[in-house]
Amino acid sequence: MLKINNLVKNYGRICALNSVSLQINAGEVFGILGPNGSGKTTLLSIILDVIKPTSGSYTWNNGKKFSRGALIEQPNFYPFMTLYQNLKISAMIKGIDNIDNEIFKALKNADLYEFRYAHFSQLSLGMKQRLAIASAMLGNPDVVILDEPTNGLDPSGIVLVRNIIKNYVNDGKTIIIASHMLSEVEKICTDIAIMKNGNIITNGKIKDLLDTSTILKISVNQDITLLYNILNDNRQLIKKLDIFGNEITMRLDQGIEPSQISQLLFNNGFTVNKFEVTKQTLEDVFLNLVNSNHESQQIV
Ligand code: ADP
Ligand code: MG
Repeated sequence: MLKINNLVKNYGRICALNSVSLQINAGEVFGILGPNGSGKTTLLSIILDVIKPTSGSYTWNNGKKFSRGALIEQPNFYPFMTLYQNLKISAMIKGIDNIDNEIFKALKNADLYEFRYAHFSQLSLGMKQRLAIASAMLGNPDVVILDEPTNGLDPSGIVLVRNIIKNYVNDGKTIIIASHMLSEVEKICTDIAIMKNGNIITNGKIKDLLDTSTILKISVNQDITLLYNILNDNRQLIKKLDIFGNEITMRLDQGIEPSQISQLLFNNGFTVNKFEVTKQTLEDVFLNLVNSNHESQQIV
């Protein structure tokens, strides 16, 4: 649905995007996760043609026609018009057919139908945010892009926004969400890219990054490559096997217990120096990646 190739954006001497490449496929709920200042809004602004990149390119839907809706800055709703009237203006600007039907559908999805004739100014912050999302989803576009959709909301407001997004996903649409909140992205997205200082430091299916299989770190008194070879002969137990210096790191296959590995070591006469068992959560991945170096903004 979207191919991004080596996008660079410099604001004067500040490098906001440092050669970002990414592919987002149709049907994905794609989270762009990163701390404030990591370049998320810059990236979304470029792919929405709001700002121009310094260099690099992107292609939507292989150049074929598609529709999209976006919430990237606070939209300008009219305070003394009703929700219905406000969405009617959005719908007319977007050239949407069957306007009333679409507006009511969007309002229902955003849990705002009963307020359809209230003035925008009467809404709570959470309701305003939901209206903005409803406006982005108006007309059922193929792609919806949301920048920090739950920013500033209380926990119940966050749940409501999450439900709007989830309902939309059930239609098989592509959604791109930028957020600095791991908990939010983790609950909604199928795929994520983690950004830091204008770089994508990792990306992939959330279920792979969330892989909670057991991680074992082992070092032994004997020849580590000999141990590696023995473990490699037992790959039915191990889904990932790496050797770093005199230490072996592995991910155990589903249902395999660390004791099965220690038995294997014992049977082959190894004496263990270190036998460390851990599990990794997405939070570990995120915090490790984001905290791993403390360099500040890049200057070009
Ligand atoms: P995020 O959305 O992840 O918080 P942004 O894309 O807003 O990050 O910002 C990335 C970097 O670019 C930050 O260092 C920010 O200060 C800088 N930046 C963003 N917009 C501008 C601008 N219009 N002029 C100068 N610097 C900017
Ligand atoms: Mg931002």
